[in-house]
Amino acid sequence: MKSNQQSDWVERSLRSVWHPCTQMQHHETVPLVPISHGHGAWLYDADGHRYLDAISSWWVNLFGHTNTRINDALKNQLDRLEHTMLAGFTHEPVIELSEKLSALTGHVLGHCFYASDGASAVEIALKMSFHAWRNAGQSNKQEFVCLKGSYHGETIGALAVTDVAIFRDAYGPLLRQSHVVATPDARQARDGESAADVARRAARALEELLQQRASHIAALIVEPLVQCATGMAMHDPLYLQAVRALCDRYQVHLIADEIAVGCGRTGTFFACEQAGIWPDFLCLSKGISGGYLPLSLVMTRDEVYQAFYHADVTRGFLHSHSYTGNVLACRAALATLAIFEEDDVLNRNRALAQRLTQALAPLATHRQVRHSRQRGMIWAFDAVLDDPAAASTFSRCFFTAALAHELLLRPIGCTIYLMPPYILNDNEVDHLAARTLAVFEQVLRA
Ligand SMILES: *Cc1c(COP(=O)(O)O)cnc(C)c1O
Repeated sequence: MKSNQQSDWVERSLRSVWHPCTQMQHHETVPLVPISHGHGAWLYDADGHRYLDAISSWWVNLFGHTNTRINDALKNQLDRLEHTMLAGFTHEPVIELSEKLSALTGHVLGHCFYASDGASAVEIALKMSFHAWRNAGQSNKQEFVCLKGSYHGETIGALAVTDVAIFRDAYGPLLRQSHVVATPDARQARDGESAADVARRAARALEELLQQRASHIAALIVEPLVQCATGMAMHDPLYLQAVRALCDRYQVHLIADEIAVGCGRTGTFFACEQAGIWPDFLCLSKGISGGYLPLSLVMTRDEVYQAFYHADVTRGFLHSHSYTGNVLACRAALATLAIFEEDDVLNRNRALAQRLTQALAPLATHRQVRHSRQRGMIWAFDAVLDDPAAASTFSRCFFTAALAHELLLRPIGCTIYLMPPYILNDNEVDHLAARTLAVFEQVLRA
């Protein structure tokens, strides 16, 4: 039974809140879940039902809800300063955060530019790349390259380098064309091919484009190691090495969109580290504030920074945003980075990932699952359905069934994926694995 409180929230929300990425009519059958509080990996509704947040609330939450350490850091900060503009002013949290992030790249990416959402970080990287080339006398470099299945956000500029049909098609006429090249998605391996072979094949396709067009191309944008929103498509790190070499050879910037894969999600703090390369621009958002506050940033090299350094205002980078470098968001990010250090999170995640992989073995080997895959703290499984027509409703059915099993999971099409916060205990690991399997079998029978 739903309490009055719960029904009241649902009714009022559906009347006045337009929910994201949602066909609102589906809420005639799919439940809308009003969350009243959260703790650790759990979210609670007004009736006291709990849901294990197995997708980190859209991939942002790293250390659980209402985390004591992040809460305390924010409470402290609140009584000193909540926000100040960042043009002509600066403040301790933004300085410290920039220094810490720069150090994490060995100071290769030593300049941080701030915004609030991931799509804006992508827009900033695209603008910066174009403008850096123009300042260097190469104003013909105006085009961008993205990968098949890429996702870089949904504002007009970011959508132009996104290749996920559901997000892009309706707005196609508004978008600037970009070059879409082969994905290194390891699932594309032909008989006898390895993931590395697929990566080499995809890199050759990029090289063909660069041979013809590099003098017009400003940048290539990639999601390192895992193309998340298209359905957790994973690739061999060799691809990143290959594209780094090609970008150097053909004088094209490399933008690494680590908005989803950064902050330890793939096993290293930055996904690029697993390939031993650094991009020219690195975008971060989502997990950087621990899932607390909107914060995004673009890190870049000194060469790029120097291309803008000049007496002339119009040679400077022209992008302003009211909440740039918000004090509270930077404080949350510092508290998040402190947890990484104090708790040796990357090492502990290796053990946690191993446990969860073991617990998920029955799902990975299920006869109606293929392409079971994992990278760091991301797991994905493609469901093989008896009735292909059921594919369109699979995700919604799964979501609803998962709620009844105290799980928050939202498959992407037929891809079931887990992207949990980094704080699961053994019971939660078992709960997550056993219930995911139970939900899957229930949805298959339905
Ligand atoms: C989520 C995401 C974005 C967009 O971030 P928003 O904050 O939702 O605008 C961009 N790139 C990748 C890889 C993402 O996963």
